[in-house]
Amino acid sequence: MSAGSPANLRRQNRDLVLKQIIESRALSRTEIAQQTGLTGAAVSRITRELIDVGLLREGPTIELKGRVGRRNVRLELDANGAYVLGVAITANVRSVCVADCRGDIVGRADVAALDLSDPEGALETVASAARDLIRETRIDASRLLGCGASVAGRADPETGRLIRSEPLAWRDVPVGEILSKALSIPVRVEGRAVALLLAELRRGVAVGKQNVLLINNGLGIGGSVVIDGRLARGQANAVGQIAHLPIRGETTPCVCGRWGCLDAVASGASVLRRLAEEDLSEAAADDDPGEQLRAMAELAGPEHWAVQEAFRDAGRKMAYAIDAAIAILDPELVLLAGSAGRQADYLAGLRETLNQLRASEDGPPVQASEVTSDQSAVWLGLDAFVYSRNLDIDQLKAA
Ligand SMILES: [Zn+2]
Repeated sequence: MSAGSPANLRRQNRDLVLKQIIESRALSRTEIAQQTGLTGAAVSRITRELIDVGLLREGPTIELKGRVGRRNVRLELDANGAYVLGVAITANVRSVCVADCRGDIVGRADVAALDLSDPEGALETVASAARDLIRETRIDASRLLGCGASVAGRADPETGRLIRSEPLAWRDVPVGEILSKALSIPVRVEGRAVALLLAELRRGVAVGKQNVLLINNGLGIGGSVVIDGRLARGQANAVGQIAHLPIRGETTPCVCGRWGCLDAVASGASVLRRLAEEDLSEAAADDDPGEQLRAMAELAGPEHWAVQEAFRDAGRKMAYAIDAAIAILDPELVLLAGSAGRQADYLAGLRETLNQLRASEDGPPVQASEVTSDQSAVWLGLDAFVYSRNLDIDQLKAA
């Protein structure tokens, strides 16, 4: 099918209409025509088709200005029109969600007990939890259009393969293929940092921004970058993976075999190691390092000075890496995600050092990312299979 074929154009226009409606919540046909530049006839045809398959419905009626008695019906997404799954697998979050086509999560399950030493088995467990959740939420499974999978590490969305994940100790795992086969729906796979950034750009604090650096810091460190409005991927989907950047003056051994890497001195795992050395392990009684990190992040504060200082110090070291990244990438916004990255003392230490390093210039604002792992996985699925040229309208017709 050539790019300009009628079928392709139809998909493109349908996608345009859906994106306008999701952004505005509800729009009349006239408003859609004005905002998309499509003709009234084209908008009528497209919206009729989307209403017929159950994805749109007629919502509130509005009075037209200056035309007494003329009313105009606004169209909105029908929440029950389509669903997606969102899967998140990181060192400290393993979850499955069912969301409706408006992005509202209608069901969620933790998949805590995953044997990560067997990637295929772990993914089968996730798929099985997803099937249970679909049953429990009682959604119309024939309207389940796809799945977004956000996985710690580097992923290739074209092939659906996880290239490499240090936190999971996975290498070259066909995540998309395994989940897709087990669930009989298409799956879109992205690395966690990329999934978070895409969600922030679409619906979060980065809406409208063209140049954004996102650093995700849970137990380990990952990153992603948008330059001039485009997600930068690099030759091996490794753009933004700054975990092993050397930090000046640091000598702590790193898992990679070198010394003084960012990951060794500024990651959530490094904060936990430091607290264990200072014998604060009692405060973090939980066996699960992800839970430990979340507990510590909440514990920090004046009354737990050592914990506060551990986060603040890790944040200071992160500032050196961000300073270098700013020099190379020239972002307008730097977002910090993950249970260590978003922590208040971590951010305070980061800002303090960054201000010292870049005293003469106004650096870009550093902000905490607000989207959750669940939301980012869900939006990945929605953007790939609902507000997308790939929307399978025939599946909805048959539903
Ligand atoms: Zn390293």
